[in-house]
Amino acid sequence: MKHSPENPAPEDAEYRKKIEPVVCYPTDNLPGYDREFFSLAREHLAKVDEVVVPPRDARTFHVKAGQFFRIVSIEGPQVGDLNLFNAHNLSERFYSGKTRALHGTHVSTGDSLWSSFPYMRPMATVTHDTLDWYGWDEFGGSVHDVIGTRCDPYTNSVLDGGDYHYCCHSNLTRAMVSETGQQAHDAEFLVHDVLNVFMCTGFMPDTKQYFMKSSPVRPGDFIEFFAQIDLIGALSACPGGDCGAKHSSEEAQCHPLKVEIFNSEMDYADRWQSPEPSSYSRTHGL
Ligand SMILES: [Zn+2]
Repeated sequence: MKHSPENPAPEDAEYRKKIEPVVCYPTDNLPGYDREFFSLAREHLAKVDEVVVPPRDARTFHVKAGQFFRIVSIEGPQVGDLNLFNAHNLSERFYSGKTRALHGTHVSTGDSLWSSFPYMRPMATVTHDTLDWYGWDEFGGSVHDVIGTRCDPYTNSVLDGGDYHYCCHSNLTRAMVSETGQQAHDAEFLVHDVLNVFMCTGFMPDTKQYFMKSSPVRPGDFIEFFAQIDLIGALSACPGGDCGAKHSSEEAQCHPLKVEIFNSEMDYADRWQSPEPSSYSRTHGL
């Protein structure tokens, strides 16, 4: 946050400030979203599994490359915090910051969720988003952000004091303990910055602080992904509920979320291949 300036503006301050911005990472060279292919592939989906995530808790789920999965709102407005891992290598995980750098602050149909270095490849691609009508509101807010990190007991301790154990960070930690059999202190290091599913967020116009407001999600809404590689997902039903007021407490009304996993009945072996990890040599100039 920038406070009142302590330094005088130089003579050419206005000139410097008027220089037009350019996009840091133009995505022209990324493989485009093949809308026709995904429309065909998702025409005949057969559900093969589902997992219900209880409120203020998290669950893991497995999706094979080439399958689809949906995160579905059930019972009431609820935000979800999503982590993704390569099912065969937990060090390859969702990289929220790079996804933001490539696709912007909020994701929707056609955007991919990218994995961490040194792998950096699309892990999953958004193929349907029933909240895409929301676009941007008058406050600059939108849905499904890659800005926030996840609610956690450390920030809560700094800001409000005390221990709260049902933040998304801790929920995801418990889920990864169950998934891997690791101790909590080890499993905690697997948890990473999330995709904030259904969360409605933006930046305050003056201070540019991260804001949240009541999610527009309603039961029946879903965001759907195509798994580009074999995945383990971990989803937390945030203790903030619809994140309209407060999180990291027992105050908000919370609801479960459902994850549904689908096979496509289309044979697309000739139209799609699981992406390889980055081809960068990793010699770093040495
Ligand atoms: Zn949360």
